Amino acid sequence: MNSTTLILKMSERNFEENITKAAHILKQGGTVAFPTETVYGLGADALNPASVRKIFKAKGRPADNPLIVHIASMDTLDEIAKNIPPIAVELMDIFWPGPLTFVLKRKNTVPDVTTGGLDTVAVRMPDNPVALALIREAGMPLAAPSANTSGKPSPTTAGHVMSDLVGRIDAVIDGGVVKVGVESTVLDVTSGIPVILRPGSISVETLRKHVGEVLVGYTDMEIEEGELVRSPGMKYTHYSPDTRVVLVEGESAAVLAKISELIDNYSQKDMCVGLLITEETAEHVYADKMYSLGRRDEPEDAAHNLFAGLRYLDSKDADIDGRDADVDVDIIIVDGSVKQDGVGAAVFNRLRKAANELVKV
Ligand code: AMP
Ligand code: MG
Repeated sequence: MNSTTLILKMSERNFEENITKAAHILKQGGTVAFPTETVYGLGADALNPASVRKIFKAKGRPADNPLIVHIASMDTLDEIAKNIPPIAVELMDIFWPGPLTFVLKRKNTVPDVTTGGLDTVAVRMPDNPVALALIREAGMPLAAPSANTSGKPSPTTAGHVMSDLVGRIDAVIDGGVVKVGVESTVLDVTSGIPVILRPGSISVETLRKHVGEVLVGYTDMEIEEGELVRSPGMKYTHYSPDTRVVLVEGESAAVLAKISELIDNYSQKDMCVGLLITEETAEHVYADKMYSLGRRDEPEDAAHNLFAGLRYLDSKDADIDGRDADVDVDIIIVDGSVKQDGVGAAVFNRLRKAANELVKV
């Protein structure tokens, strides 16, 4: 394990210098966390098995969960993937650099550890100047899953990365708060009609507009409605704070009524309540600790705020993201009255997976 993690804080003045330092660490086989437009990624040489193993170890990630390979040029794509279908090329033209990952047939240059032993590889070109400069300077494709402890909410600031991985990775580049806030859309283009394996900020509606038929191949459900505990056999947890999370989903008036009732019930049991809440609902309720998801009809804001909010409400630290967080809540209630289309599908996918209990009203 690494005992110290170098923090490289980006400014205009030291951009090149920091990229050079970080690229050097990657060339030596080390791990560097860096901002992308979606969330912070934990990068290492995607073609070097020993480097990629360090990612799995630092995150505590199960070995059969494959990594996305990040590239900065189309030449690199040809080195790692084959049989790239025209529909993928068309979408790359439109959305790269950007938050769209393609699952493609892999070439043997990509080691098993990167793909979890699959004969496919997930690839994307991130839309962030730090990420692109780092990949170029390192001269290698970077395997880069979200830079969090496996199972925890994804990191949208360098502070989140440090709170999970300090001492476990070689460096983090602090490039400020990310733009999107949820991970990329993952699209499998290996067998005819494209299939969305994970929703992201590029929605199914948008993809269908460009290429016609697109299938939805994921499920949001790790728990059934009304179920109180996660089933013990469930394989992996996702995006989950340590604190118990209750998601209240439905039409706005009903959600407000239910949240008010829950706050009363928990308060009577002397429980300290945290709320991840839309601006509209927040006008009518109050709790010990609150974090805004933004406005109901702006799922982009909810995407941007959701992981930071879960981390803030879960934290007992005196200071997180420049906020005083030292209230220790017993339960987090999430306001599910946000619009569910567009990036809203990705927001609810993450929220449903993060939740221990789903209340539909
Ligand atoms: P993360 O890197 O944490 O954002 O997660 C990457 C996501 O991409 C996970 O949901 C993986 O299961 C998925 N993924 C990566 N590679 C492949 C692949 N070859 N086939 C299918 N899914 C993949
Ligand atoms: Mg992840």
